Amino acid sequence: MTETADVVIIGAGIVGCGLAYHLTQQGATAVAIVDKDLICSGSTGKSAGGIRQQFATELNIRLSLESIRMFERMPEELGVDPGFRKVGYLFLASTETEVALFRQNVALQQRCGVQVEMVTPEDIHRLIPFAQLDGILAGSYCPTDGYAAPYEVTMGYAAAARRRGVRIHEQRAVTGILRESGRIVGVATSSGPIHAPVVVNAAGAFAGLIGDMAGVEVPVKPYRRQLFTTHPIPAFAAEPPLTIDYHRNWYFRGELGGCLFSGPKDEASTFNTNVEWEHLAESVEQAVVRLPLLAEAEIHRGWAGLYEISPDSNAILGSVPELAGFYVAGGHSGHGFQHGPIVGKLMAELILTGRTSIDISALGIQRFRTGNSVLEPMTMHQA
Ligand SMILES: Cc1cc2nc3c(=O)[nH]c(=O)nc-3n(C[C@H](O)[C@H](O)[C@H](O)COP(=O)(O)OP(=O)(O)OC[C@H]3O[C@@H](n4cnc5c(N)ncnc54)[C@H](O)[C@@H]3O)c2cc1C
Repeated sequence: MTETADVVIIGAGIVGCGLAYHLTQQGATAVAIVDKDLICSGSTGKSAGGIRQQFATELNIRLSLESIRMFERMPEELGVDPGFRKVGYLFLASTETEVALFRQNVALQQRCGVQVEMVTPEDIHRLIPFAQLDGILAGSYCPTDGYAAPYEVTMGYAAAARRRGVRIHEQRAVTGILRESGRIVGVATSSGPIHAPVVVNAAGAFAGLIGDMAGVEVPVKPYRRQLFTTHPIPAFAAEPPLTIDYHRNWYFRGELGGCLFSGPKDEASTFNTNVEWEHLAESVEQAVVRLPLLAEAEIHRGWAGLYEISPDSNAILGSVPELAGFYVAGGHSGHGFQHGPIVGKLMAELILTGRTSIDISALGIQRFRTGNSVLEPMTMHQA
């Protein structure tokens, strides 16, 4: 029997599951998600869960503000607790250029209504008294940023989507994109084709490969980032803000009374998600520069995931003009978990009505062809 759908979504991460839910919320009936693995087994399940309003463009700040409202409504809307902990986000600046960038961003964020401020080294010491602050000139701090639970949120969207009739095919790989006369007609998969007039590429770090299958350049590259957690540490009993040492592209936050800290980020693009345990000592050494107390801490676990990096560290959202029916929701460049809820809602609006309630046209794929890309410097592969 021929399998059909109105919309096929490739990828069951936060973006694919959120989009499926919102499509049904907005009236779609025949929606299918196809994932080569399991729900939330990609980057979403490996994420640090960070949610911040401290971005450098008005659009990203707006997407954060809307997403935060959606995270807050999840218990009523989806019946799941997203575990949103507003511990704050603290960015650390080590050069005058970084201080100037932070000042400029804070002014923009404040104009957008974000409760954020520049902080002095003395303020920073009060926030993270156990940290070594040599070389830190200033910081920016927003107490209403924080982190949530990626698995619970994604499973919440998946369950709600299923209740509304969405078919989720796990362990079924998309192996080709079916096209006829310049438009999408479905996907080929490891267990037969699914015919559909609309296909959404929400394949995270694999979005570039899906683009290749469709004969369209989707400029998303995978980069591995390793994370480690420690067993509980007394100094972390009162949870510190998620702290980003911007200059060193390194961060930490609390995790179940211990510390979650970032390990190495690969310079070269790779799909490898192995943890390099033989380099653990080096990662701890790097962490001890800011957190001397980690020298005595016991490592609990480590994992690695793939950032899905676009050329300007901004998401790629929208239709692909040269292939009717083909959409991309990818290239989130390390902030796809936090923007996942609003991205799902806006992509659903775009697919069903051709319009969106927030103008996301600046994030369209054509920006890379017309030279209109805008760098998001506060991302730089961070949480
Ligand atoms: C270590 C780390 C920390 C991070 N921390 C944060 C953070 O603090 N805050 C934040 O907002 N973001 C963070 N991110 C980024 C965030 O995880 C991603 O932006 C987000 O999860 C992207 O969601 P997604 O649904 O697009 O992709 P994914 O969750 O990767 O889902 C894509 C799915 O597509 C499937 N797929 C791929 N190819 C195929 C195919 N051919 N056929 C079928 N299925 C396919 C995959 O199996 C996968 O399940 C972090 C990422 C990493 C790696």
